[in-house]
Amino acid sequence: MEKRIYNLSAGPAILPEEVLLDAQKDLYSYKGSGMSVMEMSHRGKIFDGIIKDADADLRKLLNIGDNYSILFLQGGATLQFSMVPLNLMPPKNKANYIVTGSWAKKSVKEAKRVGPVNIAASTESENFVRIPKQSELKLDPDASYVHFTSNNTIYGTQWRNEPEVGNVPLVCDASSDFLHKMLDINKYGLIYAGAQKNIGPSGVTVVIIRKDLLERSSDSLHTYMNYKIHVENDSMYNTPTTFGIYIAGLVFKWLLNMGGLNEMYKRNLEKAKILYDAIDGSGGYYKGTTAIEDRSLMNVTYKLPNEDLEKKFIDEAKKKGFEGLKGHRSVGGIRASIYNAFPKKGVEELVAFMEEFKKNN
Ligand SMILES: *Cc1c(COP(=O)(O)O)cnc(C)c1O
Repeated sequence: MEKRIYNLSAGPAILPEEVLLDAQKDLYSYKGSGMSVMEMSHRGKIFDGIIKDADADLRKLLNIGDNYSILFLQGGATLQFSMVPLNLMPPKNKANYIVTGSWAKKSVKEAKRVGPVNIAASTESENFVRIPKQSELKLDPDASYVHFTSNNTIYGTQWRNEPEVGNVPLVCDASSDFLHKMLDINKYGLIYAGAQKNIGPSGVTVVIIRKDLLERSSDSLHTYMNYKIHVENDSMYNTPTTFGIYIAGLVFKWLLNMGGLNEMYKRNLEKAKILYDAIDGSGGYYKGTTAIEDRSLMNVTYKLPNEDLEKKFIDEAKKKGFEGLKGHRSVGGIRASIYNAFPKKGVEELVAFMEEFKKNN
């Protein structure tokens, strides 16, 4: 078989090898059906089984009760920046947003088209190097919801715990850390995640919504923008992204077979520790770019002594089979994305390469 690289890209990102091989095996003819999942009707019996399994397995993984609906939509997390305010902002017509990075800013931009936005906190003046403390949040208790971004993909920061928001529904963009650990789903009104970072190919967006919130979705909304319509149609108001849902479903099964999200979290903590220890133990050659207590387990961001060395580091890493280490164009530096599917062995080899590079440069 062809050799695979260590893919440290921020997204679309690495998928579990077991999932790829499984999908490859069934690509030409899905389990004796004589056709690929890509070719079959979304209303047929086989796909119905695939999407129902994906729903059931995700419920198992996160212990999601019947008071929540799961949707598999399109348009990425970006469409959720619009759908969330369009559906949830009325009748109060104001919302709290916590701004911890570029994606959060983009979500605010869309919310402002719908109604007034209260910025409960922002760390933009500090270049988003940290997550605000609970005591810094200026939450309007009368708002329709509080929106936050659990993991800041570009900056490499992550919330350790959800912000405490009282009785106001909590809404989370979990695009870059969804399913990296167990959550108490009952703390959330709505969680959404574009699949291409931690759960599947681009094109699918998972939305988990507490059912009582569906009452807010007005009939006057454009049909595709209305959560209630999607729930009533089991994510099949229009043709869903069938192949993406199938792959996400395989990833859910992969996580269940591993032992679930507590096991996944243990592995993620281990992997991140190996890398951060190497950064902190490099005598200042490698420097983490964020507040230590807010470091992301998914996107590890750091710098070298200068930009020329960073360029050389990325080039040489590439020759050794490490792809996708270049930091986001807006911040520079190095970003190693070590999502669920990235293996511990890959992190160990990256750390060995970093030590070698330091010695030679
Ligand atoms: C990647 C990302 C997005 C954008 O996702 P799309 O699927 O491209 O719309 C939004 N939020 C976060 C936190 C992300 O990491």
